[in-house]
Amino acid sequence: MPRARRRRPAQQPAAAGRRPAPVWFFDLDDTLHDATQAIAATIDRRMTDYVVRHLAVAQPQAEHLRLTYWRRYGATLLGLMRHHAVDPHHFLRETHDFDVLHLLRAERGLARLFARLRGRKVLLTNAPQRYAQAIVRELALHRQLDAHVSIERMRVHGTWRPKPSRALLRHMLAREGLASRDQVHRALLVEDNPANLKAARAVGFRTVLITRHARRGPRGRSAYIDLRIRSVHELARRLPAAATRC
Ligand SMILES: [Mg+2]
Repeated sequence: MPRARRRRPAQQPAAAGRRPAPVWFFDLDDTLHDATQAIAATIDRRMTDYVVRHLAVAQPQAEHLRLTYWRRYGATLLGLMRHHAVDPHHFLRETHDFDVLHLLRAERGLARLFARLRGRKVLLTNAPQRYAQAIVRELALHRQLDAHVSIERMRVHGTWRPKPSRALLRHMLAREGLASRDQVHRALLVEDNPANLKAARAVGFRTVLITRHARRGPRGRSAYIDLRIRSVHELARRLPAAATRC
């Protein structure tokens, strides 16, 4: 797996009697901003158009393939690579290269919130790097994030493994020094997608479901969701003091 753009893991010794700092893994779309409206519709349309052009199929079949691969693999791209030998970089450029900032809707104060959270913060998004970086900068989170892992960097032993791949999630734990039984409890995944949380929980992460922008999701209690909140802004209030600076 190529090295992700990252800062060196900071030494964060726990204060006496205080638990070691958590390591936060944050999803991007529908977790840190509202992609459900204009952005998701734009990406979906561009993906369907791409499938129409490159697989020479009609629009309804392209739509069906896009959704089928997204549900089966967690990313439409993976299905297109596996079954149609699509060039991933070309696909990501063609589908995500648009003026996303013009369509961005996000809550205010995310940088202040991140500054209050103890521990390393890693962006873990199935979106491509250029797109993710543009949004992160616009949200003023680029100085708060210690590492960015976008889909181009989600490769394990040379194979693309976006979320919800357990191989990827285990790799992330190992990269952050959290693979051992006595460290894995420090890993927290904050996400809107229940399938990703379920996989993360299975390999040892604690999980936080963001419901505000959810297009899908389990109703009632789910064993793999440790905390269910409407917005990331509730993190500082709902988590124990060990996870925050105050
Ligand atoms: Mg998401």
